[in-house]
Amino acid sequence: MNGEVKITGVRAIQTAPQPGSNLIVVRIDTNQPGLYGLGCATFTQRHAAVVTAIETYMSQLLVGRNALDVEDAYRSAVHSSYWRNGPVLNNAISGCDMALWDILGKEAGMPVYRLLGGKCRPAVSVYRHADGRDFKELSENIQKFIEEGYQYIRCQCGGYGGNTQFMKTPPGAVPGAYCDPEAYARSVVKMFEDVRVHFGEELEILHDVHERLQPISVIRLAKQLEPYRLFFLEDPLGPEDVAYFGQLRAASATPIAMGELYNNPSEWRPVIENRWIDYIRCHISQIGGITPAKHLASQCELFNVRTAWHGPGDVSPVGHAANLHLDFSTHNFGIQEWCGFETDPRIQEVFTGLPYIKDGFAYLDEKPGLGIDINEEAAKKYPVDLSQPHWLLGRMPDGTSMRA
Ligand code: MG
Repeated sequence: MNGEVKITGVRAIQTAPQPGSNLIVVRIDTNQPGLYGLGCATFTQRHAAVVTAIETYMSQLLVGRNALDVEDAYRSAVHSSYWRNGPVLNNAISGCDMALWDILGKEAGMPVYRLLGGKCRPAVSVYRHADGRDFKELSENIQKFIEEGYQYIRCQCGGYGGNTQFMKTPPGAVPGAYCDPEAYARSVVKMFEDVRVHFGEELEILHDVHERLQPISVIRLAKQLEPYRLFFLEDPLGPEDVAYFGQLRAASATPIAMGELYNNPSEWRPVIENRWIDYIRCHISQIGGITPAKHLASQCELFNVRTAWHGPGDVSPVGHAANLHLDFSTHNFGIQEWCGFETDPRIQEVFTGLPYIKDGFAYLDEKPGLGIDINEEAAKKYPVDLSQPHWLLGRMPDGTSMRA
């Protein structure tokens, strides 16, 4: 190292190798030759706003600072806008926070998980998403994952909110992603009955409600699912319905996972401190990066809540790697969601140092820092898309707007 490591530049790289997932990667450069960091700032539906926050505000805040004082960079970034903890600003902060952890790891010559305390386990258990238009197709897709070595499978039939082919809508109903919540709830019970008949008791099975149901319907569903012994039921309620979690908990022993929509500590505190959930599954870039995630994991440990960080397609490989560094080093890790991004040739063209899966477990390639690099020329081949995703335009059968 040649003197203090100072930040000399902060910028956003936009790319969408997989259509529908606008990825934002932050690059932070330093005054040390060849020393830079990458972080994930992906808020795919509002990516242009995040880019502005990074290049207009985070850049101004960080350039000239010591790159190795990561905790203070995170804290001062959170405090600097006065109003805080919103998804746009949290993603901008996350991109920078992860990039600074990447720099810290490269400077130390260690993978980031070592700086977080080292490995608590030799590999990370992951779950995959199986879906199907009907139970037969779902079973075929579950079987494929089992044959690849996966032990944990999230089961959905017909996407979020289930199949809609029998729905009656009134004339004049606007276009959207229609869902019949009660028909969906009934179908989930039948689906898990079918899954247990075909795959027995040993397979670990999960399901994502994606907040499509009314609270009382969720309570009934969680009770009905008890005989099928889910690993967890995900996002049964929206963050707005926090007070219902206590009633859900009191009524059912189905394990509950919650948190991918959380941005603010005041949202996750009650469900953790009241022991209403079993797994916290925040989207790391939506809460501000690795720094707040490690604090959140420690808070969860006090209440025997385990981590299950959000791992969908709209997280960059840098963000997936950040999840894994946390998973390896967190004692109260539970499970990692895995979408299989690392096998996509378009992702492989843009990113190097990708994590990999072997027999149902995830591994990092052990490079210093977060371990991921980006080919910016290849990234330019896949421009981001400003259009509104259709699946987020949720509608009830009578045409009323609903949470997607
Ligand atoms: Mg989810």
